[in-house]
Amino acid sequence: MQATLHSLETSCLVIGGGPAGYGAALAAQRGGCPTILAERHGYLGGMGTAAGLSCYLNHKHEKHDLSGAIYREFVQLQHERGMHYYDAQSQADFFEPESCKRTMELLLIEAGGTLLYHSLLAEVVREGDSWVATFVSKGACTRVRCKVLIDTSGDGDACALAGVKMTHGRRSDGLTQPMSMVVQLGGFDPSAWKAAGFRLVDGQYATEGESFAEQITAARAAGHWSIPRTDIALFWAMPGDPTRITINGTRINGLSACNPLDTTRAEIEGRRQAAELLDFFRRYVPGFSRAYLLQTGPQIGVRESRRIVGRAVLDEVSVREGVMPASTVTLCAYPIDVHSPVDSSTQFESAAAKSVYGIPWESLLPQGIDGLIAAGRCISATHEAAGSFRVMPTCMTLGEAAGTAAAMAEQLGVLPADLSGESIRAAMDERLVAMGWSGLNESFSFSAPLSLTR
Ligand SMILES: Cc1cc2nc3c(=O)[nH]c(=O)nc-3n(C[C@H](O)[C@H](O)[C@H](O)COP(=O)(O)OP(=O)(O)OC[C@H]3O[C@@H](n4cnc5c(N)ncnc54)[C@H](O)[C@@H]3O)c2cc1C
Repeated sequence: MQATLHSLETSCLVIGGGPAGYGAALAAQRGGCPTILAERHGYLGGMGTAAGLSCYLNHKHEKHDLSGAIYREFVQLQHERGMHYYDAQSQADFFEPESCKRTMELLLIEAGGTLLYHSLLAEVVREGDSWVATFVSKGACTRVRCKVLIDTSGDGDACALAGVKMTHGRRSDGLTQPMSMVVQLGGFDPSAWKAAGFRLVDGQYATEGESFAEQITAARAAGHWSIPRTDIALFWAMPGDPTRITINGTRINGLSACNPLDTTRAEIEGRRQAAELLDFFRRYVPGFSRAYLLQTGPQIGVRESRRIVGRAVLDEVSVREGVMPASTVTLCAYPIDVHSPVDSSTQFESAAAKSVYGIPWESLLPQGIDGLIAAGRCISATHEAAGSFRVMPTCMTLGEAAGTAAAMAEQLGVLPADLSGESIRAAMDERLVAMGWSGLNESFSFSAPLSLTR
């Protein structure tokens, strides 16, 4: 049987519907640029839904909200539906993933955008001043011609296929942060948890950055723990159902998310660790004695893989020193948080949280190739810097910057790389102000020279 060929044409094509892809597609489409968002799964949200991670970490610095208008609107909508709560201690927004999927696709459709689900990007070719991207799906190939291609695939698939120079993991040996299987348990008892002296957010939600290090040491000594971690990063109750708990507590080192043999091993090992995690929580943590496994993440969680080599490389020195380049398009204040690629340690530089830093437009632009923008976790950066900006509110705002640029480029009849970071930030500020918030230019000053690769 021959595969059907579908041919589509658009101004902007966004590859990957994670936080960055959603931000990019919505900003481009609302900016008047016809946009198709292609996604290999049948829903949006990226790691936030496909890996079952419904915790969006830190987007605040002192009294300032650093996120873009698209993220803030998203939080408001989820909150109005009772599908969100905020915890000041862990500095995180918690969402219900099914509600996230529905909100994201509804807003995109309402804006006039086009969704292309179940489509895995397989080829990218330059034809004149257009890109032609080919997707494989069941029984069909879909070919999309576009002017601007935005890569929000997390792994930088579009850029790699277009011939952009890429890096993988850390500089010294290419190893990445570990993958993790996110685990969801049912049958949690919030009252037993509270009786044991733990806190509940909004009087109902168990939400901890509590590490359980002592219990893990005891479990290891008793032969109940083999996961290469000494603590649990975070767990949280599901908005709307305090008896459902999501846990970020597994770790699979030494495998690459760009190798299907590795990701297969990671899925299998992730589920083995999920069973061990359930046993640990039942035995050692108050409120979990009757817990059961509801779901492992629909897919293994990927923290890090490929990144582009861009016109600027965001590095850890800029993150630590709080550098604010003139061409900043997104701000971040989340600390460098790197789970070791080789052992059970985690580098968490909470001191870095004191400084806000700017992510320059040039780190979204691949070297030497036009009409192509990267956003989200695959932008140009070092392994350590990526350990900071990889959080989902920042990725969504990076996507918003990329989509804003695509729409401006179409309107002005120029290439995205011809735009300045200052003009993109001003357009994003306009959106914030129109929605009743203050813009970044009002609260911060951006004058540092661009730091290129150090
Ligand atoms: C275990 C774990 C814990 C984390 N904890 C937190 C946390 O608590 N808070 C927080 O804010 N962040 C957390 N993160 C980080 C965060 O989830 C990611 O950095 C973020 O989701 C990256 O967003 P993105 O849009 O760039 O990429 P992704 O979320 O990875 O989305 C990429 C999308 O592209 C699609 N795609 C990929 N390749 C193709 C292709 N070839 N064709 C078509 N579609 C494709 C994917 O299906 C996916 O939907 C965690 C990550 C992991 C793995």
